Amino acid sequence: MIHDVRKNPGLLKLDLYCKGIRLGESCSVGEDGGRQIMRTRAGLGSGLEVILQDELHTNIPVVEDFALNSPYLLNREPDGSYRIYHESGPVAPVKLALRPAWYDRKTSSGRKMSRIGTLQGTYLAIYPAKVCDYWLEKPERVNCKFCSVGLNLGRDDADEKTVEDVLETVGAAVEENKVTYVDFNTGHYKGDTYLDILEPFIRVVKKKYGLLIGVQTPPHHDLSRYHELKKIGVNRVSFCFEIWDRERFKEVCPGKNRQYGLDRYLEAIEYCAKIFHTTNGEIVVGLESPEKSIEAIDWITSVGAVPTVCVFRPLKGTDYEKVHPPSTEEMIPVFRRMYEACMEKGLMIGVAPNIKVSLVLLPEEGRYFLDNGNRYYFTRAKHAILRPLFKAAVKRRFI
Ligand code: SF4
Repeated sequence: MIHDVRKNPGLLKLDLYCKGIRLGESCSVGEDGGRQIMRTRAGLGSGLEVILQDELHTNIPVVEDFALNSPYLLNREPDGSYRIYHESGPVAPVKLALRPAWYDRKTSSGRKMSRIGTLQGTYLAIYPAKVCDYWLEKPERVNCKFCSVGLNLGRDDADEKTVEDVLETVGAAVEENKVTYVDFNTGHYKGDTYLDILEPFIRVVKKKYGLLIGVQTPPHHDLSRYHELKKIGVNRVSFCFEIWDRERFKEVCPGKNRQYGLDRYLEAIEYCAKIFHTTNGEIVVGLESPEKSIEAIDWITSVGAVPTVCVFRPLKGTDYEKVHPPSTEEMIPVFRRMYEACMEKGLMIGVAPNIKVSLVLLPEEGRYFLDNGNRYYFTRAKHAILRPLFKAAVKRRFI
């Protein structure tokens, strides 16, 4: 593995998640067309969206306390370009992820489009329903401790979104940004209503635009519902169980533990991995030991699902705002294992067209942490063959 962040953009992406960055006085992100800093859903992204070398999209922490002490500094150079510096010297040029013009447009019902959906990397993320019920419970909230969703809605998100609002926003993102993938996300709602809420949105978006569609919700008690989701055009489902250690899961995610329990998440992942093109098991690293995170990755891949691994970020205003982010050194073996486990199982990673994710290191980006970059030659060759085929299939709406 290349240990120098100036030569290894994957390592730089990870190091920036763990350390954040300071914005130099010369920076004028808004005037230069960059995306404003938003508190984005599910509570992991609050930072500056930029594109590192190798076209790695990322969302760098800038407003949290730890970022204010970061050794990294972002500067605007005299020619208007941006460059990351470390205390020890220049690191790498970066590009700002551009703010879409449609963010400022309004839907026909008068809602600002940026409050209906946001670009995260190159895909469109939509949180169509009201705030997660765990945030509303009295006398004591039972939300996941790292989550900021209850702080976000009403600020950067519109509370109620109609099918028309969503259709118009997706249309704008397709036209301007050529998005290929829309991700629908909800929290928990009493009565397991999240799939009922999402289905009308999914049907119309699939019918009108034929995009790849993902759904991230709690695990529905009726697993046969996932066959219906597949029929209406969902390509990917994702279940965020966050924490593998059972005692830690109870502490970090009290609502999920009481309502569903870890086993229901695992059961849904195993079930859906047999149905969907991609099923993700999502974890947050940095809130339990790296060994536990690696156990989670090995279990997820053992059932044919793909791990989504988020680095814990102590977002302002959350229950864990004072908790330290993990160290880069501890995280390297986790991300290396994420890649190795996917390749050992021959999972289809990195084949979907134009999907660059800023909030996490993608499974295929784990290759930056390998000691021997030539490993998994045949699986990589298979992915290289499948990539254009997959792209053509998406274009022709076969998927
Ligand atoms: S389930 Fe947890 S992470 Fe998801 S929105 Fe609710 S509180 Fe946040």
